[in-house]
Amino acid sequence: TQIMSRGLPKQRPIEGVKQVIVVASGKGGVGKSTTAVNLALALAANDSSKAIGLLDVDVYGPSIPKMMNLKGNPELSQSNLMRPLLNYGIACMSMGFLIEETAPVVWRGLMVMSAIEKLLRQVDWGQLDYLVVDMPPGTGDVQLSVSQNIPISGAVIVSTPQDIALMDAHKGAEMFRKVHVPVLGLVQNMSVFQCPKCKHKTHIFGADGARKLARTLGLDVLGDIPLHLNIREASDTGQPIVFSQPESDEAIEGYKEWPWF
Ligand code: ADP
Repeated sequence: TQIMSRGLPKQRPIEGVKQVIVVASGKGGVGKSTTAVNLALALAANDSSKAIGLLDVDVYGPSIPKMMNLKGNPELSQSNLMRPLLNYGIACMSMGFLIEETAPVVWRGLMVMSAIEKLLRQVDWGQLDYLVVDMPPGTGDVQLSVSQNIPISGAVIVSTPQDIALMDAHKGAEMFRKVHVPVLGLVQNMSVFQCPKCKHKTHIFGADGARKLARTLGLDVLGDIPLHLNIREASDTGQPIVFSQPESDEAIEGYKEWPWF
């Protein structure tokens, strides 16, 4: 389309931020936010000298406040920029800090865009080595506009091994290619469930669909994360698994495959 072929003239870095990694998915509910949160924590655990931020632009369903156990209104700096909230050493900003927890976002496109603009440009991040961005699911306006407004070092695409999720993940990967954002690879999430009692393994959403898609697209699989009670509980209690159980748990195994862990 015209927007795409016009290229990237409007791109401007986010002040103080060295590298932006976006976490995207074709469909909702596949574990994109869980991945974004644990990626931010893994980057921090991997090198404690690095400053990491987490930006939630999933304006319709912001999950970062709950997953990072944060709430409250950001303070404003002297230059009227919003100060991120901090937990587990990660600087976080989310639409969820700006609206009531239970308030639905019933907005037209333009209002969504102005919220995105605010989240991209009116945050005082200080100095960050990496900013992990939790995108909304799909390939709509928000994803395009984020990709065209800021330079992105790479996109991580999350999918379950289920056909319908993979189809949408494929579209996501193509979108990033069109806007010249390098795709770092796929994370296969919820691939296997192991019964805690009998240890039998069930591939609830299929076995290795994301691996096949990665092969088709010439991408790496960055991790294969099981469907595990501890991962869900950790997210729901605001103590993400990479932070709360860094060594001992089988639920963490998949995250250890990540190149940056
Ligand atoms: P998305 O951002 O794609 O909508 P979320 O990260 O919010 O997905 O995950 C959806 C739900 O599934 C959340 O309740 C989360 O805790 C849970 N979840 C995500 N990944 C896993 C996993 N590997 N094992 C168990 N539960 C998971």
